[in-house]
Amino acid sequence: RAKSSGFGQVTKYDPQLAAITRDRAQRLGDLQMAIERDQFECHYQPLIDFKTGRPCGMEALLRWRREDGKLVPPCDFIPLAEYSGLIRPIGDWVLREAMAMLGQIHAAGFADMRVSINVSKVQMVADNFIDSLERLIALAPVAPQAVEIEITESACDLGIEDLEVLLSRIRKLGFSIAIDDFGTGFSSLAYLDRLPVDKLKIDRCFVTPLDNDEQNSSRIAELIIPLGHRLGMAIVAEGIETEKQAQKLREMSCDIAQGYLYGKPMPADELMTWLKNFNPV
Ligand code: C2E
Ligand code: MG
Ligand code: MG
Ligand code: MG
Repeated sequence: RAKSSGFGQVTKYDPQLAAITRDRAQRLGDLQMAIERDQFECHYQPLIDFKTGRPCGMEALLRWRREDGKLVPPCDFIPLAEYSGLIRPIGDWVLREAMAMLGQIHAAGFADMRVSINVSKVQMVADNFIDSLERLIALAPVAPQAVEIEITESACDLGIEDLEVLLSRIRKLGFSIAIDDFGTGFSSLAYLDRLPVDKLKIDRCFVTPLDNDEQNSSRIAELIIPLGHRLGMAIVAEGIETEKQAQKLREMSCDIAQGYLYGKPMPADELMTWLKNFNPV
């Protein structure tokens, strides 16, 4: 018999809902197993300094390599990892892995390279997040000054006081901070002015239309860049795929470029080879 839900209603068995629940439990089990079996890997996408035309950093992008060798993109498992809290151990691993990789890159002679690491809101608000960063720094082969933490605008719904305290602590440890996918979420200008942020990453959706010759197509990028600069921030453009987009962004004084035009995210060893073979155009 159906059970009373305590709200004066009777909950009926819903086979569709049950299937969804079963599916989620299955996927959660898979994710837990992926952690136990060490099935995650970081791929790295180069960042190019517009002024010098040379690589200045890389973004660590998480992948899940399943038993059958298939690579699962983050959009297929990060939401569940966040929902379940598993993003905390996974995120810790990414931080460790990416800093270790940067250590190897420095050792190979690319001393100016930095690494950008995505940190989810769920991970950041954990009570022990700052402690875990401190432990990480003590063991890492590189200084936090070479590491940038990327947070998305959605972290802004933490409330400005909490976020300001949190970001200040992260920054005090030596990390720099970037706001990811800028322009797609909400972040009020008051937030932007008050928060200790070093960089804005213009989302790809504002970069793609730069290919278009219509004047309107470049308005948003044209507004964000001087705004960020006035607030003392550097600007990164995400998702640059064509020379035309790059040219326009360069003319707008954008600081750093990222996109398939320069390099796709690649496994650690490929990125190392890519760096060694890099020739400025
Ligand atoms: P994001 O941080 O904004 O990363 C940029 C995404 O754009 C990456 O997708 C990258 O592969 C893609 N991209 C870069 N250049 C181009 C381009 O020229 N064209 C196109 N079409 N795409 C480009 P990816 O690797 O699938 O990651 C998606 C999102 O997953 C990331 O967006 C980030 O929000 C999240 N993510 C990735 N790794 C982690 C992680 O370690 N922790 C957390 N919390 N989130 C992560
Ligand atoms: Mg990012
Ligand atoms: Mg982004
Ligand atoms: Mg993005």
